[in-house]
Amino acid sequence: MSTKEYVNGVLHNIKRISPRQPIFFQAATEVLTSLVPLFEREGKYEKHSILERIIMPERTTIFRTTYINDAGKACVHFGYRVEFNSAIGPYKGGLRFHPTANLDVLKFLGFEQIFKNSLTGLNIGAGKGGANFDPKGKSDGEIMRFCQSFMNELFKLIGDVKDVPAGDIGVGGREIGYMFGQYKKLTNRFDGALTGKGLSWGGSLARTEATGYGSVYFAAEMLAKKGADLEGKKCSISGSGNVAIYTAEKLYDFGALPITVSDSTGYIYDKEGVDVALLKRLKEVERVGLKEYVKERKNAVFTPVSAYEEGRNGVWDVPCDAAFPSATQNELNLEDITTLYGNGCRLVCEGANMPSTLEAIEFMLSKKDFLFGPAKAANAGGVATSGLEMAQNAGMASWSFEEVDGKLHDIMRHIFKVSYDTSVEFGDEGNLVLGANIAGFRKVADAMIDQGYV
Ligand code: GLU
Repeated sequence: MSTKEYVNGVLHNIKRISPRQPIFFQAATEVLTSLVPLFEREGKYEKHSILERIIMPERTTIFRTTYINDAGKACVHFGYRVEFNSAIGPYKGGLRFHPTANLDVLKFLGFEQIFKNSLTGLNIGAGKGGANFDPKGKSDGEIMRFCQSFMNELFKLIGDVKDVPAGDIGVGGREIGYMFGQYKKLTNRFDGALTGKGLSWGGSLARTEATGYGSVYFAAEMLAKKGADLEGKKCSISGSGNVAIYTAEKLYDFGALPITVSDSTGYIYDKEGVDVALLKRLKEVERVGLKEYVKERKNAVFTPVSAYEEGRNGVWDVPCDAAFPSATQNELNLEDITTLYGNGCRLVCEGANMPSTLEAIEFMLSKKDFLFGPAKAANAGGVATSGLEMAQNAGMASWSFEEVDGKLHDIMRHIFKVSYDTSVEFGDEGNLVLGANIAGFRKVADAMIDQGYV
């Protein structure tokens, strides 16, 4: 049996045992197919059944989460924690509160986290969790009661050297605060069992900014390798959460112009450049839809989702030099990338987790004049800075913003270098999908072999 047939057999088996998990299957396909050159060279991974083991979470917990809404009604949701891999450190990865959060989505996210966390060079394993709960439109009291109820089960799993959740879509500083309060109440421990904490109670400076800043640092590295930079580049961003906001902020520092942001209601095109202070107020303080943006920025245009062409994400219609998908999975498909490319875009840097479909990735890799920064490399700055938060907590220390940001920048440079060098090692220079997947996999797989069959 050839290596390709072996890998396809493992993929086939995933489909057979988890037939209703297409998103997890997509993530597994992207990783496993790019590992073929490594498996051709090294027989040990097949011998130790690393693929069969790595695609299976070490532990998955599903629990009921009930809270009382403001109308006095009991509301019931699924809660999840997928503890995927602990070969190189405690399980680490965010919590997603979103109506679409289910086992399929959380398994894909937890799986991605294995390779992403490995690439950071830090000792962090991989996990992901969340609930099919929509924080949108909920009162502060409802959010607090939901978070407390969620923690009533989650606390059994987590701890500073066991499993360290953080934020993701729908979970920011407010939610982490409510969960941390309940964790402390239930365990009588003040430890770093969560990251993304408030600054006065163990959080790290620059954690909020880290994913967005890291994504821009990564894009700058990709361009620098080609002798280019971000100066004067028009950049399209999707999303308007944490990742998108701080991508826009950092782009200005590099002399680029962020011209779009989006949310579930539509997108903003602001040709003069996105007003980051306004965006922060609307999204972090007032928590309102993007339509409000154009009330204060008269030259900006809001396009509602109802105006998007079928099967398209409208934000990618705006001509740009570089695109930073920073919203969610599968938000950039083949038609979107064809449009972007046709309009002159030559770089995609993924701030969200798996925002590009497999067909879109194939398109980007096939173009010699295109730079593609895959999520598990480009958006690793968030979890890396969570790792730095864990280090500060363990040492009872608080580092300055400059110190954390400097370390973040170094980590992003390291991730680019190791991914690029690995692409060269395997004869496909510049293919960062292959480079990041092989580099991330190798470290975890070798640790699994060292630790025996557990
Ligand atoms: N949710 C983020 C991610 O996808 C951050 C996870 C963390 O900080 O643990 O990597």
